[in-house]
Amino acid sequence: MADCIFCEIVNKRMKSDIVHEDDELVAFNDINPQAPVHVLIVPRKHIDSVQDMKQDDTELMSKMVLIAQKIAKKNKIDEDGYRLVVNYGVNGGQTVPHLHLHIMGGRRMTWPPG
Ligand code: 5GP
Ligand code: ZN
Repeated sequence: MADCIFCEIVNKRMKSDIVHEDDELVAFNDINPQAPVHVLIVPRKHIDSVQDMKQDDTELMSKMVLIAQKIAKKNKIDEDGYRLVVNYGVNGGQTVPHLHLHIMGGRRMTWPPG
């Protein structure tokens, strides 16, 4: 999609620190990390948000979670724990309108979130 920064990253027209890629997904370090490990997992296919997922996309989120598990193991945060986040819309705090799963770890998270 034109003017989508995550499509630009997926298509390597914009530089990023990619930590995983396969046929369907790309994962890269967040440019403004909120934890020692902060990776974004995105589908190659442009989907605006979690609220725009369709029946055909049902396997996608499971695959994103399985990649999050791998990233957690690789970064040795699988035992101490981590947080997975999907923000949606204004109240959810979504700032990039291309579906993404945050995985954050390496420090103790607080609850409730801000
Ligand atoms: P959201 O607020 O939409 O859930 O999360 C968007 C995330 O994308 C933010 O954590 C932000 O730091 C990250 N981000 C925004 N622009 C870029 C970029 O150009 N490169 C990378 N690697 N991350 C970005
Ligand atoms: Zn996009």
